[in-house]
Amino acid sequence: MSLYWEEKSLAEMDQSEWERLCDGCGKCCLHKLEDEDTGELHFTRVACRYLEESSCRCREYADRKRLQPECLVLTVKEPETFDWLPETCAYRLLSQGNPLPSWHPLVSGNVDSVAEAGISVRGKILSEVCVHPDGLDEHIVHWV
Ligand code: SF4
Ligand code: SF4
Repeated sequence: MSLYWEEKSLAEMDQSEWERLCDGCGKCCLHKLEDEDTGELHFTRVACRYLEESSCRCREYADRKRLQPECLVLTVKEPETFDWLPETCAYRLLSQGNPLPSWHPLVSGNVDSVAEAGISVRGKILSEVCVHPDGLDEHIVHWV
């Protein structure tokens, strides 16, 4: 199989190659808080209402930007958005010149390797429908 992610830049990838970089961890669908003083980003365990926890996939992927204005729709034309991604995310890793980890499905050949490595959010999150927006800071996590 072609190791296209090693041979091409993000800008050179076609849509299918781009989409397959997503490991399905679900971390980018967690609410984040930014420290106003330091600019530091904190992930919470509170997930977007459209994230299906069992699969860590979006239930409204095609319509996500309309339904959830804060949804990050990644594009190589806006690399600054990669700073809002977890450090394990393939888009962020590749944009920084780092390799994909061994648990990434493109490397392991196994979609379950993400959850098996403890990388996915499965079993660790709360839906935003259960949390008041003012209480997000009570749910900051350090496993992202
Ligand atoms: S953080 Fe990255 S790899 Fe994980 S679901 Fe989001 S886009 Fe995909
Ligand atoms: S709408 Fe966006 S943030 Fe919400 S689950 Fe779908 S992809 Fe994730």
